[in-house]
Amino acid sequence: MKALVTGGAGFIGSHLVDSLVARGYSVHIVDNLSSGKGEYLNPSATFHELDISSRDAHRLIISEKPEYIFHLAAQADVSRSTACPLADMQSNLAGTINLLDACRYTPVKNFVFSSTSAVYGNAHSELIDESHPPSPISFYGLSKLTAEHYIKLYHDTFKIPYTILRYGNVYGPRQTSKGEGGVIAVFLEKLKKQEPLKINGDGLQTRDYIYVQDVVEANIAASLKEKHMTLQVSTGEKTSILQIIDLLKKYHKDEFHSFHASDRPGDIKHSCLDNTLSKQELGWKPDYSFAKGMKETYLSHSL
Ligand code: NAD
Repeated sequence: MKALVTGGAGFIGSHLVDSLVARGYSVHIVDNLSSGKGEYLNPSATFHELDISSRDAHRLIISEKPEYIFHLAAQADVSRSTACPLADMQSNLAGTINLLDACRYTPVKNFVFSSTSAVYGNAHSELIDESHPPSPISFYGLSKLTAEHYIKLYHDTFKIPYTILRYGNVYGPRQTSKGEGGVIAVFLEKLKKQEPLKINGDGLQTRDYIYVQDVVEANIAASLKEKHMTLQVSTGEKTSILQIIDLLKKYHKDEFHSFHASDRPGDIKHSCLDNTLSKQELGWKPDYSFAKGMKETYLSHSL
């Protein structure tokens, strides 16, 4: 089976490539290394250093004819999307359209898109399901939501199969403090530098943290089921910043300090994604408890 992974040098994409290679897939990676790292590239995969919005990326899909496209490449840094909405749009929207357009000329069994809970903006419920109205408050969220609409319209117009996966806050080895959902990576980088950990507000704010291998398994399960659906990849559980700090205290041999700073303006207090539908439709479930995922992540930082 042949798969093309965009963003395969990045945090989530590189783990996905490793799992596909281990399962015997022939894997092609398209990545421009803007935030990805050469050292994460799986040597058994074929690497194409290309921008997803380029003609070469378009041509590559037509010539390689991948059965599965996992589209993860994105400008995933919310603050960069605010600083430069045009560049964000070029990667996240024009890039996605370019890939979809190439799929018109080659049979693809599924186009699996990495989307985000950022499409919801300030949600009006603490447990969000897929029917919650999207209302992004960042250009990043808006670019992802608009890309979702293009994917659906490409399906309706050109019959290109797809599954859209909206992730909670993904964490795990190889994550850096840049990009989406990086509080765990931020804390681990601070510990490495022996600096105190800054907690915004009271630390009781919660997010739905999902371990990267669970996201990988959801992608592979989604690729094999042509669903034409939008599904959430999450744990459905709330974890607070203080709970993260408590776990780090358990794992870290040296004492470290944390301090409270003011709330970040605009930060939502709680965010949790219901995963009932994805469990039902994909036959998938998260396997990693937060404690297990955190331990793996902590150990990977060799602190
Ligand atoms: P990442 O920055 O580690 O990976 C993105 C990869 O895409 C990088 O390797 C980068 O070099 C590449 N890339 C960026 N723009 C490109 C372009 N124009 N052409 C080719 N390659 C390009 O980010 P990640 O955390 O691994 O995120 C992967 C996907 O998951 C993204 O689509 C992101 O929006 C989505 N997502 C991530 C999270 C999270 O918590 N990390 C949450 C929700 C959704």
